[in-house]
Amino acid sequence: MPELSPVVARFRLGIPPEIRRRIRRADDALGRQFVPDVRELDRAPGEVPDPIGDQRFSPVEGLVHRYPDRVLLLPTLLCHVYCRFCFRRETVGDPGRGVLTEARTTAALQWLHQHPAVREVILTGGDPLVLSVARLARLVSRLAEVPHLRILRLHTRVPIVAPERITPELGEALRSRLATWVVLHTNHPDELGPAALAAAATLSGWGFPLLSQSVLLAGVNDQAETLIALFRTLVENRVKPYYLHHLDRAEGTDHFRVPLSRGQELVGVLRGRLSGIAQPTYVLDIPGGYGKVPIGPNYLHGGPTEGPGVYQVTDPWGGLHDYADLEGR
Ligand code: SF4
Repeated sequence: MPELSPVVARFRLGIPPEIRRRIRRADDALGRQFVPDVRELDRAPGEVPDPIGDQRFSPVEGLVHRYPDRVLLLPTLLCHVYCRFCFRRETVGDPGRGVLTEARTTAALQWLHQHPAVREVILTGGDPLVLSVARLARLVSRLAEVPHLRILRLHTRVPIVAPERITPELGEALRSRLATWVVLHTNHPDELGPAALAAAATLSGWGFPLLSQSVLLAGVNDQAETLIALFRTLVENRVKPYYLHHLDRAEGTDHFRVPLSRGQELVGVLRGRLSGIAQPTYVLDIPGGYGKVPIGPNYLHGGPTEGPGVYQVTDPWGGLHDYADLEGR
């Protein structure tokens, strides 16, 4: 469609076969996530190229250091699929900046060696699992040589969108002395076909704890039944729902935006319907890079109402109850 040419000239397009097979229409839950849309050329108030302030917190190229005990390491800015709502869409998919060079990787590792407070490295990007097995193996083994590192976390969409890449060779490449956690990005139960679930089972069979992160997206997963189906499927497949992200203000993503009040309403419904292990935390990355915080809904209200230490609490179905905080008297 010619009207989409300026969109794909501006933001990279990529839909792997596993996802192409599962898209039935451009406006279904998968089509909306991955098929370009002319509305991506619109600019809404508040949308910016770097919504979570990566640049401000990048001491060397490829590293983002926002919290004292952990860093993001971006070994590549390439992905197997290009989400139309990506929070790093200004940089992700740029072939000129595809993979962190050897020299820059070495500089990032040197920075890590010099910062003993950092215990955890989060490989993100882009998607770290687009790297070749050999490159990943070398990166993991170099990270394991940093004596104060304890935890390696991978943020990836690959097991869902390109499950054929979850091979025994990849398992070997990821094995190290570090406690390795894998966080799967998935937004809708239709993404979780047999191949994706088999890939998740392989990863957990290798001993990696699995978490998920999802983005709340209008027209994709902004209905309670969709979120319930997604989180139940994940838990049944040994994946703990971790974050439900409020959409970041990346450019051209306004048609995906769900009001914060609607997000809180949905999360409130989940509280009454899903087991505790199926509940993600609804979070906002504060624009500008000020960190990620839970955004409710709130269950404890107003502070003292009838004297010191008396609060009101909302139960999982919306009823209000007084609670006397005896310790506060
Ligand atoms: S997989 Fe992640 S980094 Fe890649 S396009 Fe989607 S949201 Fe962006």
